[in-house]
Amino acid sequence: MNETPLLKVDDLVKHFSLRSGSLFEKAKRVRAVDGVSFHLDEGETLGLVGESGSGKSTVARLILRLISHTSGSVDFRGENLFDLPLAEFKKFRREMQMIFQDSMSSLNPRYTAGEIVGEPLKIYEGRSPKAEREEKVRDLLEQVGLDGSYATRFPHEFSGGQRQRLGIARAIAVNPKLIVADEPVSALDVSVQSQVLNLLQDLKESYGLSYLFIAHDLAVVKHMSQRVAVMYLGRIVETAPSREIYENPAHPYTQMLIQAIPKANVDFAARKEDRGAVIGDIPSPINPPPGCPFHKRCKYKMAICEQEYPEYRRLGPGHVAACHLL
Ligand code: SF4
Repeated sequence: MNETPLLKVDDLVKHFSLRSGSLFEKAKRVRAVDGVSFHLDEGETLGLVGESGSGKSTVARLILRLISHTSGSVDFRGENLFDLPLAEFKKFRREMQMIFQDSMSSLNPRYTAGEIVGEPLKIYEGRSPKAEREEKVRDLLEQVGLDGSYATRFPHEFSGGQRQRLGIARAIAVNPKLIVADEPVSALDVSVQSQVLNLLQDLKESYGLSYLFIAHDLAVVKHMSQRVAVMYLGRIVETAPSREIYENPAHPYTQMLIQAIPKANVDFAARKEDRGAVIGDIPSPINPPPGCPFHKRCKYKMAICEQEYPEYRRLGPGHVAACHLL
């Protein structure tokens, strides 16, 4: 068995400088990602979950080198991607594709569906004859549940769910190993969400894919992921096998997210309680609170929580969490 994980993210940091309007004021530092580590095995789906502003999408962009990192490393098949010259990195980039949340802005409105899905084929398999490429595009459209004849349509002629299918067809066109899916269903109606999730699950089987599946909602990743990492204000606060996260969440932030999952068939009072489960808002990453970043929202806060960042504690196989309570 291959022991090297497909993807290994180690102590990844991204700090931005935010210029103020005044010449005399120092630029502020935004700690968007502040020491994130995790791994993803071949064939696995890891859910990366947290509220908006937790830094999940920045992690996704760092992995694919869409933005530069401050420190840390990302290994893909044991190669540190940040050490590679651009030409070398391109060879790996083919194996790592991304699905974006906003299908409208991630698809070029002037390109037809055929051109959009065919673009990666052109980039990575440029020498293949045009007719062969067009045939492959039609086949890809059909694999994601779209009619092959839609190749001549433009993105605005598709529904939101169909556009997301187009983005998925583009992502699988060059047989990647890893797909980083950044909130792939959160802009879709609930009825369409499950169809797209089922499609992603089917493609995982047929293409042997691994997913880094980013979502703000634990309910969405529940059926997709073997393991879940929960992110809060630029750091991972808990990682565990999926079942363990849902049945035995250890970190108070994970518990809060679980309580916020709407439960089907519960009475109105219980649903009201669910909404009350989310306390306050995530603080700004410009000036994160000292100690545990969650302490301003935590009902279990102790004196130490305001001063010291908690170490990770091992709670079981593959289960770690950072909280002074544990
Ligand atoms: Fe709450 Fe303290 Fe644990 Fe942070 S370290 S989650 S504030 S109990």
